[in-house]
Amino acid sequence: VIQITCNQLLPALTANLMIYCITLSSSTSKPHVNVLHFSPQIFISNEWHDAVSKKTFPTINPATGEVVCQVAEGDKADVEKAVKAAKDAFKLGSPWRRMDASHRGLDAAYLAELETLDNGKPYAVFYTVDVPMVVKCLRYYAGWADKWEGKTIPIDGDYFCYTRHEPIGVCGQIIPWNFPLLMQAWKLGPALATGNTVVMKVAEQTPLTALYVASLIKEVGFPAGVVNIIPGMGPTAGAAIASHMDVDKVAFTGSTEVGHLILKASSSSNLKKITLELGGKSPNIILSDAKMEEAVEQSHFALFFNRGQCCCAGSRTFVQESIYDEFVERSVERAKKRIVGDPFDLNMEQGPQVDEEQFQKILGYISSGKRDGAKLMCGGEAAADRGYFIQPTIFRDVKDDMTIAREEIFGPVMQILKFRSLEEVIERANAVAVFTQNIDKAHYISNGLRAGTVWINCYDVFGAQAPFGGYKSSGIGRELGEYGLDNYTEVKTVTIKVPQKNS
Ligand code: ADP
Repeated sequence: VIQITCNQLLPALTANLMIYCITLSSSTSKPHVNVLHFSPQIFISNEWHDAVSKKTFPTINPATGEVVCQVAEGDKADVEKAVKAAKDAFKLGSPWRRMDASHRGLDAAYLAELETLDNGKPYAVFYTVDVPMVVKCLRYYAGWADKWEGKTIPIDGDYFCYTRHEPIGVCGQIIPWNFPLLMQAWKLGPALATGNTVVMKVAEQTPLTALYVASLIKEVGFPAGVVNIIPGMGPTAGAAIASHMDVDKVAFTGSTEVGHLILKASSSSNLKKITLELGGKSPNIILSDAKMEEAVEQSHFALFFNRGQCCCAGSRTFVQESIYDEFVERSVERAKKRIVGDPFDLNMEQGPQVDEEQFQKILGYISSGKRDGAKLMCGGEAAADRGYFIQPTIFRDVKDDMTIAREEIFGPVMQILKFRSLEEVIERANAVAVFTQNIDKAHYISNGLRAGTVWINCYDVFGAQAPFGGYKSSGIGRELGEYGLDNYTEVKTVTIKVPQKNS
């Protein structure tokens, strides 16, 4: 039903510049269609604007390669307007600065009314995974709004000393396309709960859900200028945010390469605070005593979830020598059963990659794997005549120095490597996941790893309450949980002389 509805809607979308949103009622499981009157424009001060340049760019449906609609393309001039709006909204005495913290929490909770639009991920997965995570994240941070307390500190001498946790000010937030709505929630939740104002640049591949949220932000009554959302390109709009003198902080999720640029822009402008959530090449370790069926299924999920487009995808699967062949065989069996196709089909496991650029890049990595001598066990090609679908692909006999074992592929391509001893695998891997039934070994490996996240006998388990982030070049700072609030607050120390005699 959904498939037919969408095919009928897409031409109308292009014509009317309206965004249609398909909702699936959880109680009845009956799909129905809402027409949402918002334009894919730039959202500044609770108003919709064309780009100053009047430029637009197309956003593409990756399942067909067709244009969904044109979106206003913000750049430096629009960032200028948005930063000014966010700065004004943060001024002393503004409604946002005067709002009680408990009320800020209430507003954030309303944002839980989120819906889906096509970005290529299976509709059912988005509905059952992303949407609940978005809602939980926003509710979680809404709860923090009036609880982020300072301390009283017993310093020496006749003083009363306390700290206040204060908002940083104007926060630039630059988000990627792999989890558009979720990344928006991870960024907006803590920033708004702690009283900041926001200029967000959404990924050029997937601007629509964030703009839909902008319409909700207006509807629920956030003061103008508190949240400003700019669809646009990285090197123009993104770079303008990163180097702006009135942006006090930038939170970025994306590639390590752009992470470097963001840091440089900060150091050559106003030393704005930076948090980075970057890429990785996360190893997933399977010890010989692991429960085979569970390890195969979880490792499949670890790599293929979201079409491999996860910064923490288990993209190097290290398997202990004695179970290597059986593990490969069963993983190939599982990958061949993976259902790939129209993301609006409710049974679909895997939709298309996000765009042609990623699609071509992944096919390039597959060729390099074959050239370097890894053995292709299944997949390896486009999975449809049109759209950006790729077959679930598995390589065995992968060596550490091969390109496919070193670079982030960000696609449905699994590399299975072999190891002998625990010490060897710790040295080679620095993993994020370990499968074993031996809890001593699990702790031994987990303590030895230099990684920000370790999952034991599971993968991709996220809670809004638990911090997430990477060691080394995978990032700076942590998102989610109480730790995530540190990114959005300055600590002010106030010291007051306390007279010892009543004069
Ligand atoms: P990916 O390769 O996954 O697309 P990117 O790091 O290129 O990751 O993109 C993540 C986000 O960073 C996107 O919103 C993109 O527009 C933005 N971006 C890209 N280049 C720059 C840049 N030079 N400065 C600031 N933001 C950028």
